[in-house]
Amino acid sequence: MFSYRHAFHAGNHADVLKHTTLIAMMKYLTQKDTALTVIDTHAGAGLYRLDGDYTETSGEALEGVLKLIASLTPAEPALDPAAKPRKPAATAVPEALAPALQDYLDMLRRLNPKFGDTGDVAHLKIYPGSPFIEQHFLSGRDKLKLFELHPTDFKSLSGNIEQLGVGRQVAVAREDGFEALKTFLPPPARRAMVLCDPSYEIKSDYARVSDCMADAVKRFATGTYAVWYPLIPRPEAHDLPRKLKTLAVKNKRSWLDATLTVKSSKLLTDTSGEVIRPGLPASGMFIINPPHTLKAALQAALPQMVSRLGQDRNASFTLESGG
Ligand code: SAM
Repeated sequence: MFSYRHAFHAGNHADVLKHTTLIAMMKYLTQKDTALTVIDTHAGAGLYRLDGDYTETSGEALEGVLKLIASLTPAEPALDPAAKPRKPAATAVPEALAPALQDYLDMLRRLNPKFGDTGDVAHLKIYPGSPFIEQHFLSGRDKLKLFELHPTDFKSLSGNIEQLGVGRQVAVAREDGFEALKTFLPPPARRAMVLCDPSYEIKSDYARVSDCMADAVKRFATGTYAVWYPLIPRPEAHDLPRKLKTLAVKNKRSWLDATLTVKSSKLLTDTSGEVIRPGLPASGMFIINPPHTLKAALQAALPQMVSRLGQDRNASFTLESGG
């Protein structure tokens, strides 16, 4: 069985990119009157504790969501706008937080009311995974299909979704998400958003993603398909966005590719000569048929992710689109 557990990585810089993008997409796609089917092929546990053993051990949220919150000045607070600021306003005029990042923080505030009221990061206990983000935007006519293979995460996901009390609107299955996707395309009302977010723990995941997306576009060309991928020094990781771009271009689909690099991928050595693993330096989101509002939203948010999450002079972003 796989050893990857997203709880170790919850709230890291890759989650900031992925979830900010997901929120921007969901916000737009759920504005229409026609029912939307959302399919999350690799759902994870749904909710994560930022003060839990896994997250605290890895400390990855410190380089992601917690770093973002620490970067906020008192005048652009993590506070609910209705709440009274606890700190005096900053004298310097701060750069306004990009709306997409503000929406991301709003999501955290809703899940952590005490954090929302006080802006105190000590009260930020719960981090939403993609299923909770997706569910938040649905209206009665929409459906959410979640797939998770890991037995423990599947159990947590099922329990977390059960607590929402949303009945049959959300279906959870312990199935291979790559395979399961086929059975839902095309969706009944011919509107779908698919998030494909594997752990890439096994090398074959890269090829499975591109094959799965090719099959999905063939079955339902007008769906919105979002793929998260790691940018690491391995050929498959760099080939994946290229393959997805070729797929989109061949099928005359619009596409968008956003990447966020927070640090160098070079291996470092400590004073004893021991190699230090740098951790994930960068990741990307490739979207086929993106909402037309997404590029502008990310154009504003990505430079702020770089300035607020960047760790060295390699910190940067790219934003390309076509079609
Ligand atoms: N999408 C989640 C989020 O943003 O909160 C995180 C998902 S995590 C990166 C990937 C998840 O996929 C893991 O929980 C892993 O157990 C699960 N997984 C791995 N292979 C799978 C497969 N073939 N089908 C469904 N789930 C799978």
